[in-house]
Amino acid sequence: MLIVPHVVFGAAIGSKIHSPILTIFLAVASHYLLDRIPHWQETTEPYILTARTYIRCSIDLILSIGFLFFLSRQGKLDLNVFLGAIFAIIPDVEGIFQVRKDLLKNSILSMTFPFHMRLQRHAGFLLGVFTQLVVIFISLLIIFEI
Ligand SMILES: [Zn+2]
Repeated sequence: MLIVPHVVFGAAIGSKIHSPILTIFLAVASHYLLDRIPHWQETTEPYILTARTYIRCSIDLILSIGFLFFLSRQGKLDLNVFLGAIFAIIPDVEGIFQVRKDLLKNSILSMTFPFHMRLQRHAGFLLGVFTQLVVIFISLLIIFEI
């Protein structure tokens, strides 16, 4: 799944959970849960990184940071919301190992990486973007208590 839905969903968790430790645990768990929802991204297994991936990740990160600034301006960014947003994308740090596969061998992530990859459910562009927009929409409803 793209970065933005994970960040927004993690922020939603942090907005409702008032324990930092529980927020971190639930945010990481939410990452694996959301990856089970059919979603689109520009690369699928075996996740060959291309220029499109770097462009998408850059835009995705900028939008995620922009979202956190937006929450800050709305007075909705506290420690738990921040922790939720950050830890919701921690599992995707494994993407680094697509560039440096040598690091994967000697890491605890060598155990979680195959698990994470098996969880992925990919969909075509229209359905795969729609599901992620739904995740973002529901998360915003939770954060802003609409
Ligand atoms: Zn993931």
